[in-house]
Amino acid sequence: MDFNLEEAFIHIISKGKKDNTYKFALAKFLLDISKNTKDKQNITILYEDISEAFLKYYWVQECKYKLKQDFKQNSQPVVITIIQKYCGKEYISDSYDKYFKDKKSVKKEIIQEIEKKCLGDVIPRFQPKESNKFYSHNHIKNARKFHISKDKDRSIVLNSDTIFFLKKSYELLHKALILEWAKFLEKTNFTPKLISKIENLGENKRSSLGKYKKILLEIDTKCFYCNCNLLDNKIHIDHFIPWSYIYDDEIWNLVLSCSSCNLKKSDYLANEECLSKIKKRNSDSNLSIPNKDISDYYLNCKKSGFLEYSNSHNKLECIKS
Ligand SMILES: [Zn+2]
Repeated sequence: MDFNLEEAFIHIISKGKKDNTYKFALAKFLLDISKNTKDKQNITILYEDISEAFLKYYWVQECKYKLKQDFKQNSQPVVITIIQKYCGKEYISDSYDKYFKDKKSVKKEIIQEIEKKCLGDVIPRFQPKESNKFYSHNHIKNARKFHISKDKDRSIVLNSDTIFFLKKSYELLHKALILEWAKFLEKTNFTPKLISKIENLGENKRSSLGKYKKILLEIDTKCFYCNCNLLDNKIHIDHFIPWSYIYDDEIWNLVLSCSSCNLKKSDYLANEECLSKIKKRNSDSNLSIPNKDISDYYLNCKKSGFLEYSNSHNKLECIKS
């Protein structure tokens, strides 16, 4: 029986309609909720809870990673239009939790709108189809449904067998899901670490940069931006191109800065003068990695929607050392 469910699950995420990625978001939600369900029992899930998960997945993709989702020309999924309506179109440097901490009523409105406009189609589609040619084999004739949809109560009932199956095969199915989701987004995005970005939706695990400090201090002991002497200040390590775009700690993208410049810059892009400066630094210090040009990353990051730091009263400049 598990075999039937496994084929059905893989079929749903790898075939069918290609307008948006809602089925991936729903699959991730069902996997995660099953993983965290302890007892073997049916569970009722409100549409509202599914919408909240959709908000988180798509908020991170739109507001943090600026992933493009227009699979049809000049048309974006409704969930993105809703998020942009409430959160704007610009990159947001706060985390999901921090951003909504004091915006509970806005969050509720977004969730209600997603529930109303985005779930109607995807919930009934997330089922094995007996009439489908793929399922006409004998062994899958009696494939059970993943869930019972109760439109009147705005809820679905996930049966205990489905939960047991999703939980047991979580690692495998989650990897298959991330692969299909990334394959889909790859069509419209030129971004580093796409798979990792999809895999860690909303959970940014950042490692300590301390190990780079010594190497960078050997290159320069001044703030990359304002040129102040760092030996007298608290030393920060800054991702020249925002971490949310590069999504990795690459030494060619790291610079030392004073705390004031680091806090100002946050996840913004520095100006093009700074780009020339880091290019020279990388070339002089042999930090460039073959086949990678920081200018390409810089321009693509800008094209993706990351903003250049600009505040006329409080400029972030690169002072030539
Ligand atoms: Zn500085």
